[in-house]
Amino acid sequence: MIFVDVLIPLALPKCLTYSVPEEWAWKAAVGMRVQAPVGKKLYTGLIRAVHDRAPEGYTVKPVAALPDERPAVHEKQMQYWEQLADYYLCSAGEVMKAALPAGLRASFAPLTETRVRLHPSITSEAQLLDRLHTLKRAPQQEAVLVHYLSLAGELDYEHPHETPKKQLAQDVSAAALAACIKKNLLEPVIHEVGRLDLSAAATKELPSLSVAQQRAYDEIEALLAAGKTTLLHGVTASGKTEIYIHLIAEQLRRGRQALYLLPEIALTTQLVERLQCVFGATVGVYHSKYNDNERTEIYRAVPSPYRIILGVRSSLFLPFDNIGLIIVDEEHETSYKQSDPAPRYHARDAAIMLAQRHDAAVLLGTATPSIESFYNARAGKYGLVTLSERYHRAPPPKMEVVDILHARKKKRTDGIFSQHLLEAIGHALEQGEQVILFQNRRGYAPYLQCTDCGHIPHCRQCSVSLTYHKQGQRLACHYCGASQPLAVVCPECRSPNIQTKGFGTEKAEDALQLLFPQARIARLDLDAARTKKAYSRILGDFAQRHIDVLVGTQMVTKGLDFDNVGLVGILDADALLNFPDFRAHERSFQLMTQVSGRAGRQQRQGRVIIQTAQSGSPIIQLVRRCDYHALFALQLAERREFHFPPYSRLVSLTLKHASADVVQQAARQLQELLLPEMGARLTGPFLPATPYIQGRHLRCFWLRLERNAHAAALKKQVALQIAAVGKLKGLSGVEIVVDVDPVA
Ligand code: ADP
Ligand code: ZN
Ligand code: ZN
Repeated sequence: MIFVDVLIPLALPKCLTYSVPEEWAWKAAVGMRVQAPVGKKLYTGLIRAVHDRAPEGYTVKPVAALPDERPAVHEKQMQYWEQLADYYLCSAGEVMKAALPAGLRASFAPLTETRVRLHPSITSEAQLLDRLHTLKRAPQQEAVLVHYLSLAGELDYEHPHETPKKQLAQDVSAAALAACIKKNLLEPVIHEVGRLDLSAAATKELPSLSVAQQRAYDEIEALLAAGKTTLLHGVTASGKTEIYIHLIAEQLRRGRQALYLLPEIALTTQLVERLQCVFGATVGVYHSKYNDNERTEIYRAVPSPYRIILGVRSSLFLPFDNIGLIIVDEEHETSYKQSDPAPRYHARDAAIMLAQRHDAAVLLGTATPSIESFYNARAGKYGLVTLSERYHRAPPPKMEVVDILHARKKKRTDGIFSQHLLEAIGHALEQGEQVILFQNRRGYAPYLQCTDCGHIPHCRQCSVSLTYHKQGQRLACHYCGASQPLAVVCPECRSPNIQTKGFGTEKAEDALQLLFPQARIARLDLDAARTKKAYSRILGDFAQRHIDVLVGTQMVTKGLDFDNVGLVGILDADALLNFPDFRAHERSFQLMTQVSGRAGRQQRQGRVIIQTAQSGSPIIQLVRRCDYHALFALQLAERREFHFPPYSRLVSLTLKHASADVVQQAARQLQELLLPEMGARLTGPFLPATPYIQGRHLRCFWLRLERNAHAAALKKQVALQIAAVGKLKGLSGVEIVVDVDPVA
């Protein structure tokens, strides 16, 4: 008897064992998909191991089916999933769920589509009428044929129209359709679903590198060849992308594959053209905005015909077999981290783990390295290569700081804008230059307040104020998405005097339009760019100079390359600086520096104006001086003092329950269980900044673990204790979210 251990895409602690019926025994191999019953449901799992040891103590169920002829994944991939599961304290099944496109996870998901067309034996209208005549006594079959003909329109007998069988079957009887096929009136044809678009052609030679770029390239090559993960610290517009392109070309010459990771889907659109120009159809793009069929196809197509994959974090799970290089562009971006659901993995770190398995090299690139990566580079763990001049030799932008409190006192403001910024905008527009304004908050106003009783509308599900969106006249919660119409009077005291407080991108756009009625102003935030298409359109319009001023959230700070931006305005630096997180200053520096990098491309010097109430803040001063090294030193001292990463490995635990009492009790229990082993490593339970979200109360812990091998053992302990709390009476309903290396 053959048994198989099957990995199921659920949060189970281990594989489940099944028996394999004799007739399928030949298919029992690692990586094969199986249909297996779990409880009353069937799941598509993967065979992890094949053996002849009958499990003891229970009757083994047989697998329900083995649908494929060959394995869907390599064993190496499953080992990688297990490594991630171990590191991020989740189950391999959860990683599997994230790793496989839904098409491969669904039970018998059709990877083909059946279409029907007129049977080739019918070659003329006369024959067709003849055959139709024979159906007089079978009105249902006649109806099938007539319906097919109505969908087909004018018939070309040599290439008859093909209609998806599914579509036809919606409107006619399935039995009659089957009969038509049996009688050779219609013919089924099976198609692979969709088609990969392999039409892109290379149109450009590799650009030649500048002297500075060539030096950086050589340094990188040498470090990567020595087996070192390498950090490329290159200012915006220094031409990092061109260096990546050269490195990729080199991998292809050696017959190996390359993976180019980006933190966000939106950025792939811009880059894919740049890569296809050079590499043609060998560039594949992989991200979640593709539908399941497309994702499944790309998954099954890797490695050939693609040699280069451009994608977001999930592309780490593609079945590479000969990968030589992984580029992690904008490595500092926190969107590389998956926050929900598990696996809560960081693509940068997961890339390094993947590369080790494949003996591949990793290059991290950014203008503003994360403190962790720069620390690793300084400590000699990573190689470090610096590129400090812009490719076109443009001088770095001129940085100006406006003390907004002072300006207000002197009456040198107009609403949310300082006169200084308004004059600069006017000047830029006169010169025919474009302007980017950054405000890291969408909506019109982050909250409303009644001027008579002080009431502030809050979300019923979450402990946050509701954001006022002028568009649609609604109040929306940015945590749970709940939204309600704007009330005309205060719900507490019926006063009609309700004021907006603070401002978001919508208000900035509105207010600016009043001040510059001639200017073409557009907005780029989650609301304006709900779809990838809307996003591309806005960026396209801006690139074509159909937009003069672009007001946006951090979406405008990302790796965009425009050539006519004379001015960048940062409207409210304080919102960034005051964010309650130990990385707030690092993030502020990164965002402000990144958005500043959009100013003044080519030979011209750009201008950046930062509005802040904290003009004396060291972070503002460092942004102004573009002094990353000083920022690093400052942050490192702080991290050391409070024992934060990189001086510790942080694990956050969040307990959630609808009852505040229950969650509090669970937190106490968990604290008791953890304390003996963890001691001073444990902080909490404490209330997070937003202690009530989506109808559930939250309690948090932090574990600061040593950065050594011991951490792995400690993490195992944590996982055990968490499982123990879940088993306690009355506490099984408490959700405990574990986040290893959380980013916020
Ligand atoms: P980064 O990725 O560092 O922000 P980019 O690679 O986008 O910089 O380069 C900035 C600009 O300079 C782009 O318009 C790019 O096309 C141009 N550029 C950079 N290097 C070269 C090169 N070697 N030859 C031609 N143009 C280059
Ligand atoms: Zn009121
Ligand atoms: Zn809410």
